[in-house]
Amino acid sequence: MNPITNKPYSANCKAVRAAAAKLPVAQALPKLRQTIRDNRVTILVGETGSGKTTQLPQALLEEFPHERIVLTQNRQLAARKVADRLAQELDVEVGGDIVGLKHKGCNLTTPATRLTVITDGSLLMQAKAEQNLQSPKVVIIDDAHEHTAATDLILGLLKSLTKSLDDLKIVIMSATIDTDLFRQYFEGAVVETVSGRSYGVEIVYLPEPPMSEFDALLDVIIHVHLYEKGGDILVFVSGVKEALKVINHVQAALTGPKACMKGDEVGPIEIFPLYSQLAAEKQDTAVNSVAPVGRTIGKGRKIIVATNIAETSITLVGVTHVIDSGRVKVKVWDPRSECWTLHDLWASKDVAAQRAGRAGRTAPGKAYRMATREGFHSQLPNRSVAGIQVCDMIGESLNILTMGLNPITFPYIVAPATETVMTAFGILQKLGAINPRGELTESGKAISGLPCSPYNAYTVLLSESFGCTSQILSIVSIIEASEGGQVFVQPTNEEEKKALGKICAFFQHPSGDHLTLFNIYMAYRQASLDNKTDEFVKENTLRKSVLRDADNTRSRLVGIMFNRARNNKGTFRSLRDDDPMYYVKIISALAAGNFTRVAKRIPNSKTLFETVRGGVTVTLDHHTKLSQSSEWVYNELQGTKSGKVMRLATAIVPEQLIKSFPVHWIDEQFFLPEGHIKDALVKTIANMTGLPEKDVLVALPKPTKPR
Ligand code: ADP
Ligand code: MG
Repeated sequence: MNPITNKPYSANCKAVRAAAAKLPVAQALPKLRQTIRDNRVTILVGETGSGKTTQLPQALLEEFPHERIVLTQNRQLAARKVADRLAQELDVEVGGDIVGLKHKGCNLTTPATRLTVITDGSLLMQAKAEQNLQSPKVVIIDDAHEHTAATDLILGLLKSLTKSLDDLKIVIMSATIDTDLFRQYFEGAVVETVSGRSYGVEIVYLPEPPMSEFDALLDVIIHVHLYEKGGDILVFVSGVKEALKVINHVQAALTGPKACMKGDEVGPIEIFPLYSQLAAEKQDTAVNSVAPVGRTIGKGRKIIVATNIAETSITLVGVTHVIDSGRVKVKVWDPRSECWTLHDLWASKDVAAQRAGRAGRTAPGKAYRMATREGFHSQLPNRSVAGIQVCDMIGESLNILTMGLNPITFPYIVAPATETVMTAFGILQKLGAINPRGELTESGKAISGLPCSPYNAYTVLLSESFGCTSQILSIVSIIEASEGGQVFVQPTNEEEKKALGKICAFFQHPSGDHLTLFNIYMAYRQASLDNKTDEFVKENTLRKSVLRDADNTRSRLVGIMFNRARNNKGTFRSLRDDDPMYYVKIISALAAGNFTRVAKRIPNSKTLFETVRGGVTVTLDHHTKLSQSSEWVYNELQGTKSGKVMRLATAIVPEQLIKSFPVHWIDEQFFLPEGHIKDALVKTIANMTGLPEKDVLVALPKPTKPR
């Protein structure tokens, strides 16, 4: 009998449960249940594949039969797969009263759901809304070693709650966790260790350092496919571009016209990319599809080329060979230049262990590392940098404040840099989200309640006074969904590149990127009304999942903004298509929202701009098309190998810029250092006010507030 449902187990479920009973964690469960019952915080350390994620939550359902349990996952794919597996082992469906699933845009729970698998981001949102986590009895933080910013904020919240919530049980799980750090953090925490894993994983290193890391990776993939027996191959690379490049080269080497072997020697292969920006259905196809059969020598093979989306938590049935490029992409915020930079770095030994752990889950496996044994041990850092140490702390500070805590005294498990927190406070104050005492304002609460970045949320709120909320919501939604404008499928050859050039030119708006994205999204919505989205997306090589995500984000934002208007806290207006000031109003609202991110062209330069805040020299992104006469732009900065670029830039004439936020820009001239930016600003204000230039700074009232 199934003690959870009080029904007999189905035949299929019995087999799954029999296998689970053999997992290393199984024998430890009675003791673990007792430890968790007797202690507030339990740290469970057990190798990858020992059964932590799938077995412990089930044991706790039995241990606490009337209570609610939440299990966090750091990624949506992992949350979906773990919920599926738990439901399968419990013989129930995801979304009922036993197993639920929650992540951005998905809520498969009922008011009675006992065990909810939830992404750390969604749990944080929930904590923000409820101001605490009173409802669950047990919170299981899975893969805590990753130190995602959201997980670490939840840990801090839990730490501050343990004092007031006597009854709350916290379980921290990982294979590669720094137990000392966690034990110090949660005083009195008990560490339980489980040894063993499902199957062994042999680690294979390169015999000598490679001349080219990419070539070595390709060689290993091809070698493993041609000469190694057994199951599927999972390759880890640092990003989407890298994944697509590997797929192209592997396909060419194994099946292209220049392939070194004949088809029947190669056997049937199927290659899938797997990354977070891929539509959920496509991710599921990559994960669930079964390798083709019929290879002359041995079996056919499935090859998955993944980013770190597949690194923790999930079991990819059939994978026995993991080939790890050893690289990761890390987005790092620089508080001085207020700029993100994407770094391609060596992964940590932690990451390598997790990646290797994806082999050996359903059969013995091998993990190949793109370094020599010596190189691996001497060059790779032991642990990855915590998310909180590389993020901008702007949204994070808002989250902490919304949970009723203080970002300066917050009990971080790993502390952010003070400079980053101070810069974040400065920006939040500029956005009016906090007052000079660092307290959340009404506007800050509104910004925090919108499911988008603080800058975008601020723009949405400002759009009310420009009468263009509907249009701004469209622009903000597509920016959010496309992670800063990546709406097109990456071209893989010259022909596709040319075709994409024509498509971009078609949607191009002369003022710049924001309105180009707006054009694309509006055309998509029209196609959607005509029931022609599939054709539209295909013809224009757009990423459908991005556009669908934008729709979801937009509906949520519309809901919140409507409510605001209904409660007389704001207005919800849409510009009429025939409004002669249509684009002027949209551009002004965007400029007002991005007033801290304005840059001006350096005199006589074709390509260089200087940011008003910080005086950083930046260039336009290669896809941004602006006329040479555009002097002022607002933008989002990103650091690249070739310097700092403006990812999304829209041109604005200075008079309109000043009108979009007069209080700020009239103040600004008093604080700017001497130079072309100050000169241009004074000149424009002189023109607009009719004052002689030399009198502008004298005649206007000086700002009263210090900055
Ligand atoms: P851990 O969290 O300790 O890494 P899990 O509980 O995720 O381990 O998985 C333990 C084992 O259960 C895996 O190694 C695998 O053998 C089996 N397993 C888990 N999920 C699945 C699945 N979706 N399909 C098949 N086997 C699975
Ligand atoms: Mg796990």
